[in-house]
Amino acid sequence: MGSMANPVILSLDDDPAVSRAVARDIRRRYGDRFRVVRAGSGPEALAALREIKLRGEQVAVLLADYRMPEMTGIEFLEEAMDLFPAARRVLLTAYADTGAAIDAINLVDLDHYLLKPWHPPEEKLYPVVDALLEAWSSSPESTATELRVVGHRWSAPSFAVRDFLARNLVPYRWLLADDPEAGRLLAAAGASADDLPLVVAADGTTLVAPSEAELAGLVGMTVAPAADFYDLVVVGGGPAGLGAAVYGASEGLRTVLVERLATGGQAGQSSRIENYLGFPDGVSGAQLTDRARRQALKFGAELLSTREVVGLSEAGSARLVHFGDGGTIAAHAVVLATGVSYRMLDAPGLTEFTGRGVFYGSAATEAPSCVGEDVYIVGGANSAGQAAVHFSRYAARVHLLIRGADLTASMSRYLIDQLDGIDQVTVHPHTEVVAAAGDEHLQRLTLRDTRTGERREVDASWLFVFIGAEPRTGWLDGVLVRDERGFVTTGPDLVAGGQRPPGWSLPRDPYHLESSMPGVFAAGDVRTASVKRVASAVGEGAMAVSLVHRYLENQ
Ligand SMILES: Cc1cc2nc3c(=O)[nH]c(=O)nc-3n(C[C@H](O)[C@H](O)[C@H](O)COP(=O)(O)OP(=O)(O)OC[C@H]3O[C@@H](n4cnc5c(N)ncnc54)[C@H](O)[C@@H]3O)c2cc1C
Repeated sequence: MGSMANPVILSLDDDPAVSRAVARDIRRRYGDRFRVVRAGSGPEALAALREIKLRGEQVAVLLADYRMPEMTGIEFLEEAMDLFPAARRVLLTAYADTGAAIDAINLVDLDHYLLKPWHPPEEKLYPVVDALLEAWSSSPESTATELRVVGHRWSAPSFAVRDFLARNLVPYRWLLADDPEAGRLLAAAGASADDLPLVVAADGTTLVAPSEAELAGLVGMTVAPAADFYDLVVVGGGPAGLGAAVYGASEGLRTVLVERLATGGQAGQSSRIENYLGFPDGVSGAQLTDRARRQALKFGAELLSTREVVGLSEAGSARLVHFGDGGTIAAHAVVLATGVSYRMLDAPGLTEFTGRGVFYGSAATEAPSCVGEDVYIVGGANSAGQAAVHFSRYAARVHLLIRGADLTASMSRYLIDQLDGIDQVTVHPHTEVVAAAGDEHLQRLTLRDTRTGERREVDASWLFVFIGAEPRTGWLDGVLVRDERGFVTTGPDLVAGGQRPPGWSLPRDPYHLESSMPGVFAAGDVRTASVKRVASAVGEGAMAVSLVHRYLENQ
């Protein structure tokens, strides 16, 4: 049975002597727990990976030589990532090729490069592979091998399950309800086609139409806090929250991060972030935030998933954070990093088809289903532009609908240039969606020319909406000072009129990122007048932690 086999460590080198030696060293230490597979060329290794995938087995580590005639190690790793995104990646290089290896860190999200020779392995090879295997084995991928999801193509609950797994980087196999194997799984689970989506784990555990918390539990994500008192509670697992967790935990604070859905936040949804410092070739949001998540765990932060925070209060010097499903945790300090959520498009029919053709955000899980079809995207800012680039790789045609005359006022120049160069993308200026229609799923959109008022109907099965975002901070009503749009007001903005905020009890002004409750800080997009960038969110997360230290010292 595929799911019983040991996970694979693959070693690729065109020099048979080197290949044998690497495999021997790896087998000596890891052979009892991992299956070592050897390949002599990129194409051969990819063929082996495809077979492993079909058998439902897992790949933990890929070690590839850089210089090979048919395909370089970087090209191989790039393709291998599509098959096994969770496998850790190592490049073997000669000293002269370190430049290429450093470039690959961004291009293929390389975990490590090893300079040849790697002897003695105890010093040079094993510590690297040990660390990578540890990271891999603590990832949900290693435990959730062969997770299968049976559902309907056009079903919002089925989409919700797939979206949750994808956002949390949990690999799964998607089976449509009419697939023969789906029928077998349903029969085995004693379920019917009315009980979808059905989730089947490798050990045979089944869940029918599971909640996010049930799914998180199934794939081994932590949902309950280990303690009830912490130095720091971080609310929200986007770049700002992950930044705060990494700096908090690395600087010795007992830190717990609470995330409603999946770590990564909006950044995790971005198909390619081009402007984050240190990644000249861009980086996918999922890769960047997965690294941050691992970094936070490495420093000892606790990460809780699928727990929504719905209340904040104070009890003496403790700050209390309340969960939507009951339960409370207390801490000396809190960093709010809840970001913003997509604004919904308002037109008849759109709500009904949400998750069944109408999607908010990039919904990366859906891209492969759009092959050869027309995709409509609403929005003129960078997120819409990135989505248009991403979907153009799959769709027959991508229609970008914008209200303005062109993109120059709302989108970065590099993205406008990129879109100009893609034939499949058409920008429709002065256009808005005014209605959606269909039977089981979205089939038609009515578009309106905002200058002439003229309406036209188009056949459309896919609509992705990116029309800005707003903070969801209603739960802080009456607890913290927020601006008229709901963003949390901090620092100097709280004392703009020369008056400290109501209820403020300390003989000092609030620190820069401090909210109107002492010891509660806000970082990233949720903060009044924030910059709405990954870099600034991460920076504010780090800065909030230094202010937490200052707050604790002066308590
Ligand atoms: C598609 C897209 C592409 C983008 N591309 C770029 C780019 O190329 N470059 C760039 O610099 N910026 C980009 N941005 C903007 C960037 O992603 C955001 O500025 C950044 O993610 C903000 O980080 P944050 O941590 O403040 O908030 P978010 O990323 O919004 O994260 C907030 C997190 O908090 C969680 N949360 C919210 N409420 C609660 C609650 N009550 N309880 C528990 N958890 C909660 C959410 O689920 C979410 O995970 C892009 C944004 C999008 C949507």
